[in-house]
Amino acid sequence: MENFQPIDIETEVQVPIQAAKGEIDATFISFSGLREPHFAIKLGPADGPGVIPLVRIHSECVTGDIFGSLRCDCGPQLHEAIDRISTEGGYILYLRQEGRGIGLNSKLRAYKEQDKGLDTFEANRVLGFPDDARDFNLPAALLKVLKVTQLRLLSNNPDKLKSLIENGIDVVSSVPTGTFMNSKNQKYLEAKHLQKGHQLFNS
Ligand SMILES: [Zn+2]
Repeated sequence: MENFQPIDIETEVQVPIQAAKGEIDATFISFSGLREPHFAIKLGPADGPGVIPLVRIHSECVTGDIFGSLRCDCGPQLHEAIDRISTEGGYILYLRQEGRGIGLNSKLRAYKEQDKGLDTFEANRVLGFPDDARDFNLPAALLKVLKVTQLRLLSNNPDKLKSLIENGIDVVSSVPTGTFMNSKNQKYLEAKHLQKGHQLFNS
């Protein structure tokens, strides 16, 4: 775990956002006690009796989330999560773990390696990084601060599911995300599927 002091909610503030389906209400929640400014976004009817929040654990991808990079599927997955969770109620945890935790500079270097024919995991290894450098204990810790101990998980990544369960979160169901494949990210998605067991679904 990367936190160095107890984690707590620092600020909770309304930020209306322009989503694909129009303007929606969102509450951005920052945390104290973290080295990186990970944050949560609360969308739709997230709490109340009988509500089991839908949760997306999303790792920052500046190229995909902001600039619409076609080398990955992060942007479409984030926007799918915003649309869906704002309807059903829940949270997005936005974790500042760019490039599966190796940072933007290294991610761009890894892209150069991929251009020579390596897949996304081989490229990380050539640069001396593990396949996945993200801290999967972090999301469970943040969820507990948010008092979310029971949820539905919006993810195709079996490692995320496993880490939540191991950290005592009651994952009532695992809801698959769409598969956003294009000619530029096909190899990347296939590597995640074949080597890490990510599920692929037609959207
Ligand atoms: Zn991405």
